[in-house]
Amino acid sequence: MDTINGGISFWYAQEGIPVPREPLPGDTAADVCIVGGGYTGLWTAYYLKKAVPFLNIVVLEAKFCGYGASGRNGGWLYNGIAGRDRYARLHGHDAAVRLQQAMNDTVTEVVKVTADEDIDADIHQGGVLEVAHTPAQLARLKAFHAVEIAFGETDRELYGARETADRIRVTGAVASSWTPHGARLHPAKLAKGLADAVERLGVRIHESTPVTEIKPKHAITPYGTVRAPYVLRCTEGFTASLKSQRRTWLPMNSSMIVTEPLPASVWDEIGWQNRETLGDMAHAYMYAQRTADDRIAIGGRGVPYRYGSKTDNDGRTHPSTIAALRDILTRFFPQLAGAPISHAWSGVLGVPRDWCATVTLDRSTGLGWAGGYVGSGVATSNLAARTLRDLIQQDSGQSGPTELTTLPWVNHKVRTWEPEPLRWLGVHALYAAYRRADHHEATTHTPTTPRLATLANRISGRH
Ligand SMILES: Cc1cc2nc3c(=O)[nH]c(=O)nc-3n(C[C@H](O)[C@H](O)[C@H](O)COP(=O)(O)OP(=O)(O)OC[C@H]3O[C@@H](n4cnc5c(N)ncnc54)[C@H](O)[C@@H]3O)c2cc1C
Repeated sequence: MDTINGGISFWYAQEGIPVPREPLPGDTAADVCIVGGGYTGLWTAYYLKKAVPFLNIVVLEAKFCGYGASGRNGGWLYNGIAGRDRYARLHGHDAAVRLQQAMNDTVTEVVKVTADEDIDADIHQGGVLEVAHTPAQLARLKAFHAVEIAFGETDRELYGARETADRIRVTGAVASSWTPHGARLHPAKLAKGLADAVERLGVRIHESTPVTEIKPKHAITPYGTVRAPYVLRCTEGFTASLKSQRRTWLPMNSSMIVTEPLPASVWDEIGWQNRETLGDMAHAYMYAQRTADDRIAIGGRGVPYRYGSKTDNDGRTHPSTIAALRDILTRFFPQLAGAPISHAWSGVLGVPRDWCATVTLDRSTGLGWAGGYVGSGVATSNLAARTLRDLIQQDSGQSGPTELTTLPWVNHKVRTWEPEPLRWLGVHALYAAYRRADHHEATTHTPTTPRLATLANRISGRH
């Protein structure tokens, strides 16, 4: 059986690619204009409209809602947020604990709102299981586990090899850390359900409408300009294509493959009854889920970055990346050697220079943005959206500061990425270092993380 390569994502192969809504018909005015119809833009429209039903909100989407990472991701709805540890250093431990608590609550919030809105996104709250294979990974897992508990996750559990296998029989796993703050979902179903819910509330969504420039109070498209006191940039991995945003967030590729539905006999061997999302402690880490129709979808980095911040069109994935992901799949589950891979695809996520997610409203211009989630945006985009709602309500005098507007990631400033070719060289050197470190740990069984990986983290600004 041939592997389908690209076609946006497997999730859309299953669901069907939506027929785009009508483009912007011409110049118009709104109270809030949202650029980008992924989770960030859609959740923001949702919460603003729920809070102030008479608000006139327009969403402008270049292709169709969910075309970007929101319709291509691994479906991990979990409580990780990029940059928490740096925020702890900048704003103090207690501020970062509040941020973490808000993320824990966000998982619950998404599960609740999708149920309230009748969005069937195959959500199953089985938590997140992260496994260690090598002695160095084990040391990192224990350190990671202790740090998460220090940030208030007292319900996290540390398992040995036997307890890990009781959940998922990952070959060679020596230990794991499990948190209940995570759920598996179908990304495209969530994106489509959210867009429909937002439209039902009375938000105008225009698809096939690329914004060429964002200026204070203006979003300019080939079909007309939307004038609005608030213009929100919700374009994450695609941000570099906007005028004067080339070096703001680096578009990082992530790639996935998915098996055919696996028979009951295979699941008897593997377990995975609780459908946890599954990850590991490698430097170039993997992520996986057991889908609602009993496939394994598994992802990782592959070609991490394209020269000049280019993004792909339809998710086509390099054969070497597909082979590398298949290797991980069969290393974890040797019984799947030879199992057909039905689909492979890729997408881009946004990485700021300091690897810290941010949400900002510039009160002097009315421009806002959220993103830079570095691969953990499924839940974070929801927290960002509720925060943008509160920031706009505060700015327009409808409310004062809230718990969300005082979280440490709000209005965080970060420098831009280096110009090319430094950007390309830097990211490729970083991932080469991670792969070398992973190989070294696996072959030497050293219990310590190689200095190369620690140094790469420090130079990149990742930790
Ligand atoms: C393969 C992959 C796997 C991932 N797995 C996970 C995971 O398991 N868990 C997790 O938490 N995170 C994961 N992520 C990250 C997560 O999917 C993203 O952080 C999140 O979806 C970002 O949502 P967003 O709305 O900010 O951006 P996007 O979903 O990328 O949406 C941006 C939208 O803006 C539109 N747009 C871009 N430019 C313009 C323009 N000029 N004018 C108008 N519209 C424009 C795009 O078409 C797109 O629809 C993954 C990402 C990828 C690529």
